[in-house]
Amino acid sequence: MPLLPNRCQAGPLFRGFGFLASPAQGGYSRPMQRASAVFLDLVDLSWPLRPDMPLFPGDPPLEFQRLGALETHGYLSHLVRLPAHSGTHMDAPGHVLAGGAMLADLPLSRFAGPGALLDLRGRADLAVTAADLSPHLPGLRAQAPAFALLRTGDEARWGQSEYFTHGAHLTPEAAALLAGLDLSGVGLDAGSADPLDAADLPAHKALLGAGTLIVENLRNLEALPARGFHFFCLPVLGGDGSPVRAAALVAGATA
Ligand SMILES: [Zn+2]
Repeated sequence: MPLLPNRCQAGPLFRGFGFLASPAQGGYSRPMQRASAVFLDLVDLSWPLRPDMPLFPGDPPLEFQRLGALETHGYLSHLVRLPAHSGTHMDAPGHVLAGGAMLADLPLSRFAGPGALLDLRGRADLAVTAADLSPHLPGLRAQAPAFALLRTGDEARWGQSEYFTHGAHLTPEAAALLAGLDLSGVGLDAGSADPLDAADLPAHKALLGAGTLIVENLRNLEALPARGFHFFCLPVLGGDGSPVRAAALVAGATA
């Protein structure tokens, strides 16, 4: 079920997000010129962080330890322990490359921008190949988004053991193709850019080596159009990886 809870009539909000002006109206960087009301949908693309959530094989479970209770302390608070790469999260170059940038080294502007959605569900195999990407390349090059989000269809398998052990991933050639597009990041609705048995992580290295961030375990991609949305994935940790609250602003009806 897509989450579309925050449907807001644009007024001050929309002026605040003036970069949503369509490319036909002058591109994402210019303020909206029209005075007509535009509705924005804020789409949640993140899995909730919970103690029972699916995790990459070998990762310890999330722990929520109560520090304060309303009855005894007057406040409720928890100590939370979790793998940095749990749930919907971002990989920094330093995740797989010696001397690579950590998330704290990157400006906030690297974590948001115009997005494009690639529907790759019709491919022949679990792997996303260069041939699977090639029909999308002319549009990507013309649109020049900051983020390419790959809808592999694996979101439907979240919670099944094979989601991580036998999941959608990129071939090294597909990753190299995406790494050559000058994107801020690539996101996918799957557990990893590489298959579980790829010890040398070629897709991670191709993308992160080109400075292209990786966002894994996205969801609700069915709620996005192919283009014309703004993607956000803001990390809360500054190291090799961090959970992100990924979301997209999608322009809706015009009044
Ligand atoms: Zn990761």
